Amino acid sequence: MRHIVVLPAIAMVIMGLVMLIMIRALSNAAIEYDITRDLRRSQEKNARYISNQDGRLVISDDFLYESDHIHFLILDTGLNILAGAYPEEIAEEMQDVAIKNRSSRSVDCGGQKYYVRDMTIPGSRRGSRMHLRGLIKKADADSHYGMIELVSYLCIVGVLCVILACEFLLYKQISKELRNMCRTAENIGSNLDLSQRMACDNQFTEIATLVRANNRMLDQMEQTFRMQEQFTSDVAHELRTPVSVVMAQCQHTKERATGREDFEEALDVIYNQSKKIDRMITQLLNLSRLDQNRVQIWEETIDLAELTEFVCEARREQELDEPAICLCLNEAVTAGDVSLIVIVIQNLVSNAAKFSKKGGSVRVSTGEKDDWAFVRVEDDGIGIAPENLERIFRRFYRCDSSRNEEGFGLGLPLSEKIAQKHGGRIAVSSEEGKGSAFTLYLPKKPGGG
Ligand code: ADP
Repeated sequence: MRHIVVLPAIAMVIMGLVMLIMIRALSNAAIEYDITRDLRRSQEKNARYISNQDGRLVISDDFLYESDHIHFLILDTGLNILAGAYPEEIAEEMQDVAIKNRSSRSVDCGGQKYYVRDMTIPGSRRGSRMHLRGLIKKADADSHYGMIELVSYLCIVGVLCVILACEFLLYKQISKELRNMCRTAENIGSNLDLSQRMACDNQFTEIATLVRANNRMLDQMEQTFRMQEQFTSDVAHELRTPVSVVMAQCQHTKERATGREDFEEALDVIYNQSKKIDRMITQLLNLSRLDQNRVQIWEETIDLAELTEFVCEARREQELDEPAICLCLNEAVTAGDVSLIVIVIQNLVSNAAKFSKKGGSVRVSTGEKDDWAFVRVEDDGIGIAPENLERIFRRFYRCDSSRNEEGFGLGLPLSEKIAQKHGGRIAVSSEEGKGSAFTLYLPKKPGGG
């Protein structure tokens, strides 16, 4: 693990070194080019002042033996000096340097680098040749360029320092923001206070985006946490009533019961309340298993018309005091887990019966539309206010709990979850005081109908 600033800093330093090396190489090339060009030009100019008159070598007064640190000599083909002189310190070594016509080259002499250029000119005797040699010590010529090179180096080092300083400042800013985020996260963790949010001064777009994403996640976590709290309190609240009734009944029976009839009556009450608790626990368990994907779905072909008829017949047989159910069954074939789908149909039919008006009726139909097989349950009961249409799918939500002492507000959330697990949904339309229609849509089984 390393600081984010380390890598860019290393990259900068490497880049700086590469640039220094490049400048060195380029300036060397430029210096060499300039020296050899000057050497050539001076040599060509000087050559004009050498002439041959009647077999005699004549050197005009304009001939320069030294100009701009360039030394000029005239040599015969045996490398003997006819005019001019080598600098003293290299005289001996230079004597052996062979002639190469019109070629500038570097020669190491006396521990120094020299540039040498020879130019062959006609000799004093007919047909003979001489050589005009020019030479310059590199260090002498370098001094012109040294300053430029030094300034270039300083510029690069300066630019590097500025970049590194900016990078360091950036790092300090970013790490300050990140430290703030960490502090908030740690505070949330230690105080379990999900209402806290990460602050951001919006200096850097990327950091601001990160902060916003984290805050959105905290919003969701807080919402989930609140829902969890609400859920626990709802469960406790819903369980309290039947448990209180059971306790009160036990107390009452203990104090007041005299005969078998009183005990039987008390047992009936206790049994009914226990059944209610059991129903709620079953619904909660089903929901939690579906939430956690722990429900094994045994998929088989389901004839929804047949299944709906079976559910409604079963209700009829119970001879409950509820509105008549009118069936209109058309072919509707789907695939799914029959033990789960039956729960949905039971819930929808039971709700329709529960919220119907006295003497009202419930119409249950099945059929297929486009890619869907459906079961529709319509009633002419109390209906649902528009603002509640969405809420009825929330856990423990009941529009008017005083009119629905039987339920816990878990039937529809469970039904919706089952429908979703099967790739389907539940649609609802309702008008207050006129009635409601709930439709379970499930994917039509291909080739089923
Ligand atoms: P419950 O078991 O309490 O009926 P549900 O989740 O099945 O719970 O229903 C939630 C709420 O939706 C009910 O308490 C009721 O207020 C409303 N509701 C459901 N079905 C109907 C219906 N057919 N007519 C009117 N209101 C309904």
